[in-house]
Amino acid sequence: MTTTPKPATDAVPGADITYPEVTINRYRPNDPCVGRLVRSEVCTASPKAASFCRHLEIDVSGTDLDGIVVPGQSIGVLAPGEDAKGRPHQVRLYSVCSPTRGEDGQGHVIATTVKRTIDEHWDNHTLFTGVASNFLCDLQEGDEVRLTGPSGKRFLLPSNPGDHDYLFFATGTGIAPFRGFVIDLLESDAKSEVCLVMGSPYASDLLYHDFFLELASKHDNFTYLTAMSREKQADGHDPMYVQGRLVTDRDRLMGLLKRERTLMYVCGIAGMEMGILQELARELPKSALEQYLRADAETISDIDGWSRKMLHRQIKTTKRVHLEVYA
Ligand SMILES: Cc1cc2nc3c(=O)[nH]c(=O)nc-3n(C[C@H](O)[C@H](O)[C@H](O)COP(=O)(O)OP(=O)(O)OC[C@H]3O[C@@H](n4cnc5c(N)ncnc54)[C@H](O)[C@@H]3O)c2cc1C
Repeated sequence: MTTTPKPATDAVPGADITYPEVTINRYRPNDPCVGRLVRSEVCTASPKAASFCRHLEIDVSGTDLDGIVVPGQSIGVLAPGEDAKGRPHQVRLYSVCSPTRGEDGQGHVIATTVKRTIDEHWDNHTLFTGVASNFLCDLQEGDEVRLTGPSGKRFLLPSNPGDHDYLFFATGTGIAPFRGFVIDLLESDAKSEVCLVMGSPYASDLLYHDFFLELASKHDNFTYLTAMSREKQADGHDPMYVQGRLVTDRDRLMGLLKRERTLMYVCGIAGMEMGILQELARELPKSALEQYLRADAETISDIDGWSRKMLHRQIKTTKRVHLEVYA
């Protein structure tokens, strides 16, 4: 009996993409390793930014994390002390922002980007300070930090990065993996086209802004766009979320998305992915849209009615879309 091969159009776009084998969970919360902070600096565009974000570099030499952590993965941090119930604080995850070679070129020093969680307490309006983010941002050079992980094996650059072009969307500390990805891509022989869209409330909150501007001035294949949600853009456009760039920079970004080799990555505040997918559904022709998401005709006809709970149910992303969002 002969079997008819499935038509190629039935295959999930991107199903053939492979990812490098990476180590996960080398260290678990009951048996962490110890790293040492070697650098801590503000990484917002302006010291007057409303948020407090720091670029932290941690020396992991002498541990098994040395040389194995890649951008797109996260490390776990165990803050000292106990929670309100007297139990040790649970692990918190932080995305790695260093390139594969590490900050030092040898893989001994990894980095992350941390935003202090600071708020008024919901119940009684006293000051609420998040445990791990403030522990990390308070660390002084030479201080020790207990680490777990690494975790994550899918939000990575593919095994053959030069076979693809890339559209990255980041909000806030969601920029972390893209810092590492962009360095890896621009330092490699790959001549991929790379476009990064970074979103923040105000220009003063943009992270690693001067660094990305400098890279864009040096590399023709790297485009850096910003989107401020609470003030006008430097180019005069009204306040916008990251997906607004799909409209204002339509020719460039739609041209990129229509290419068969393009991969899209989204990292940052939970919820941002829905706005991006809605804009794709509005702007892309059907044949190109199917490369990124699948939804039935009724769903597609009601884009404004989409909500987050429909994601992965009525609205399914393909393997050309990589999402990493957190609260
Ligand atoms: C895969 C992944 C990657 C991540 N990467 C990064 C990263 O690169 N950088 C980064 O900064 N963060 C990152 N995070 C988030 C990070 O793990 C922590 O959740 C964040 O730093 C807050 O942790 P915390 O210990 O400071 O706050 P916590 O002490 O855990 O407090 C935050 C929690 O307290 C509660 N809370 C918040 N506000 C209030 C309030 N006003 N009153 C009462 N309760 C409140 C909420 O339940 C909230 O979840 C990532 C998360 C994930 C899942």
